[in-house]
Amino acid sequence: MKKIAFFDAKPYDREWFDRQNTKYDIRYLETRLTKDTAQLAAGCDAVVAFVNDNLDAEVIDMLYNLGIRVIAMRCAGYSNVDFKAAYGKINVVRVPAYSPYAVAEHAVGLLLTVNRKLQRAYNRTRDFNFSITGLTGVDLHGRTAGVIGTGKIGRAFIDICKGLGMRVLAYDVYPAEIAGVEYVTLDGLLTQSDVISLHCPLNEQTKHMLDKKAFAKMKKGVFIINTSRGALIDTEALLSALNAGKVRGAGLDVYEEEAELFYEDNSGNIIKDDLLALLISRPNVVLTSHQAFLTEEALGNIAETTLKNLDEFFSGRYLTNEVCYRCKLGKASESCHHNRKERCF
Ligand code: NAD
Repeated sequence: MKKIAFFDAKPYDREWFDRQNTKYDIRYLETRLTKDTAQLAAGCDAVVAFVNDNLDAEVIDMLYNLGIRVIAMRCAGYSNVDFKAAYGKINVVRVPAYSPYAVAEHAVGLLLTVNRKLQRAYNRTRDFNFSITGLTGVDLHGRTAGVIGTGKIGRAFIDICKGLGMRVLAYDVYPAEIAGVEYVTLDGLLTQSDVISLHCPLNEQTKHMLDKKAFAKMKKGVFIINTSRGALIDTEALLSALNAGKVRGAGLDVYEEEAELFYEDNSGNIIKDDLLALLISRPNVVLTSHQAFLTEEALGNIAETTLKNLDEFFSGRYLTNEVCYRCKLGKASESCHHNRKERCF
């Protein structure tokens, strides 16, 4: 039986993987994967990792030396993987889609919460404080949503925005044909949107795409929603824009420096990250702990696809959901074997 080192395992991961797993001996490890914990994969045949595991060149080399030849990411994003270091050594597979609705619905939830100040209303009524002063929001109907990245999640988000009666603008490096959506330049989106929601991957081009310059171009009173990756936003620039009243509210499921903090109970610890403390202290910021994916449907699909990805690897087949540094570059990279339905290497 093949042994799997499953890093950053939480009770809900176990529940959904154990329901479907019949073939593998899964070693659930509560710790994140880092250079200090990589050794725990000794004796295993594969590593299953998640969004805040560290898969830099050093860790990849350590895993390779332990005999690991496949890393199965149980997530869609892969900005934490050094693909150049893995190329030729370890095949990397992922779960490209498990429930775009889960993430899009959470993004809309953050928008509705931060607009109508539901987090504050909830706290007030729990204390029998029935004052509604200071809780005024805006009608979203008729306002403009600017969607950056119109892939699976962006489109699900767009559908909900249309249902709310919003006008939808979009920016994507690969524009598509989507009824009722007007593609504009990034600047066009920044200057015209009342709500800006991020649904593109994190890479060299998109890091800090919402920086000081971008915030300067936005409408006063814009809402910022980020369920993609924290580093898409320069947090200091966001804080300045919140302080200046330029940003009316921010709904964030991700944070640039989340890796050491998210998914753990840090309530008894002194948080040394002052930027995060400032963000959380703002009454017009709602921050959740990278949980947009967390629905039963998504967890079931993540387990199913990850196990299928491992089956493909161990039976020597083409890896449907493989990513390497060449094919992850996108449609411009025709040279990767993956495009010929072969393993990337
Ligand atoms: P997808 O691949 O279907 O869509 C991404 C879109 O972004 C594509 O249309 C692509 O062309 C576009 N894009 C790429 N580079 C761009 C750029 N520079 N500017 C504008 N657009 C660009 O991906 P998806 O499934 O919709 O997921 C989107 C992101 O959501 C993922 O990259 C991941 O970071 C994040 N995510 C978060 C959670 C969560 O729990 N918070 C869960 C899943 C995914």
